[in-house]
Amino acid sequence: MLRQVAEGVLIHESEFLQTNAVVVQGRAGVLLIDPGVRGDEMACLANDLSELGQPVVAGFSTHPHWDHVLWHASLGAAPRYGTARCAATVRDRLSDARAKARIAELIPPDIVEQVPLDLLGLITGLPAETEQIPWDGPRVQIIEHQAHAPGHAALLIEERGVLVAGDTLSDVLIPLLDLNDTADPIEDYLAPLRLLEGAADDVDVVVPGHGSIGGADQIHARIDQDRAYLHALRDAQVVSDPRVGPSAAYDWLPGVHERQLQQLARRRERDGTHG
Ligand SMILES: [Zn+2]
Repeated sequence: MLRQVAEGVLIHESEFLQTNAVVVQGRAGVLLIDPGVRGDEMACLANDLSELGQPVVAGFSTHPHWDHVLWHASLGAAPRYGTARCAATVRDRLSDARAKARIAELIPPDIVEQVPLDLLGLITGLPAETEQIPWDGPRVQIIEHQAHAPGHAALLIEERGVLVAGDTLSDVLIPLLDLNDTADPIEDYLAPLRLLEGAADDVDVVVPGHGSIGGADQIHARIDQDRAYLHALRDAQVVSDPRVGPSAAYDWLPGVHERQLQQLARRRERDGTHG
């Protein structure tokens, strides 16, 4: 079911991890950002769009993780974009015969059968430094950064007052660091928060990749909450964040938090740095 969150911007929420697909209405059809997870949900979205007479004219994936680069045949054959670095990362991870089997192992067993992998990751990289998604609709500004995953893009739809945050600024997920592709995973997450803060004054609605939609009053609160979590990790202080406390939305989150702590400690030992 599609839900309008701003003029010409609609959301389709998956049961899996409160994943938000974002639909932006253009002149001849819609831009679809991070289409969804389960095949039946994407088919439902495609059906809703065809009832509205709105074909998908462009797709976009915010970052190269499996839950953001799926597609369903019923959504049609529009070009699907990502940043150059996002597309290169996906291409690299799909480059051998065992790739899809490996990705299937990342998907929770209870839904893996329902996640169609045949059209996974077929995205075209936009040239580096591209400032907006090429399509016939409201300007969608690309804010590229390296938090969470290589070539991650937040998207600012200024004339609609909407920030599509990808996997940052969630009310349910803590910042999940990219501990493989980056030399300074915490700073690589803090820097984008400053970028998003710079855009926040134009934002009335924030749409995280997972979690609930935030209103204007939520933008700064969510940036502050992510930043406080990262500062606590960086300074090896006690984390008091409701997203990994007793009221965590998912019972596996405190464990993910513990693993991040351990991996950061190992990196510090390896690099011989402190603090
Ligand atoms: Zn995600």
